[in-house]
Amino acid sequence: MFTPIAGRAVVVTGGTRGIGKGIAAVFAGAGARVLVTGRDEAAARTAADEVGAAGYVAADVSRKADCEKVAAAAAERLGGLDVLCANAGVFPSARLGDLAEDDIDRVLGVNLKGTILTVQACLPLLRASGHGRVILTSSITGPVTGYPGWTHYGASKAGQLGFMRTAAIELARDGITVNAVLPGNIMTEGLAGLGNDYVNGMTAAIPMRRLGTVEEIGHTALFLATDEAGYITGQTIVVDGGQTLPESPEAVS
Ligand code: NAP
Repeated sequence: MFTPIAGRAVVVTGGTRGIGKGIAAVFAGAGARVLVTGRDEAAARTAADEVGAAGYVAADVSRKADCEKVAAAAAERLGGLDVLCANAGVFPSARLGDLAEDDIDRVLGVNLKGTILTVQACLPLLRASGHGRVILTSSITGPVTGYPGWTHYGASKAGQLGFMRTAAIELARDGITVNAVLPGNIMTEGLAGLGNDYVNGMTAAIPMRRLGTVEEIGHTALFLATDEAGYITGQTIVVDGGQTLPESPEAVS
């Protein structure tokens, strides 16, 4: 039996839809007080209402001032911060030969720099918590696999893990753990935008023959946030229905 996390203060970046909204719903359902963030304020308000979050704040994680705004909102509205789910991310596709400098800046700016800025801004609150938890949403793409069109995205997601390993060491004496969830293909608004061919192709490549749900990522994050997971730091959990296991297409046919 896990110690309940009811009452804990939780921030979920990119919590307005998709995986972040699923994480927010799972934490709110467990009685945590959740602050949802995203760039679109109206969407953040709606998501907060739908998942039963304690509040919302509009913020772009690629901007330091916005990350500081999120931390200030957590201090003001939640009275502190115990769990930071740094989940906001983008995954536009472009082959290496066509990749514009702006594409690289945007993907690295949101996914990698945004992760660092968010954690940095929330550090004082996480230290004050005494049992701070940082849970990154990385990906199988980059850390484990590759996929055409996502050189920049894969680099950003692998980069998150490089950040995580040193942050975990630096923050260990503050009682803060830093871990990452590596989703496979999870059915979200963003993923649906990649089209039916992509979704069908991925479904066929997954031994469980289905995409994951946002709640399945939420429950993994919830585990990492428990007191009982307090000795786990700098680690990754792949949640992919077995997608990274087959050695060849025949192995999954
Ligand atoms: P999604 O449905 O497109 O949702 C993305 C969320 O991030 C939204 O709430 C969006 O809100 C927010 N966001 C985007 N840019 C932002 C920025 N600059 N600042 C703050 N918030 C921002 O995507 P998803 O599929 O749920 O993916 C969420 C995370 O999971 C990403 O890090 C992604 O790389 C990772 N992931 C997803 C999958 C998958 O299969 N879906 C697999 C592996 C990893 P606004 O647009 O309002 O800002």
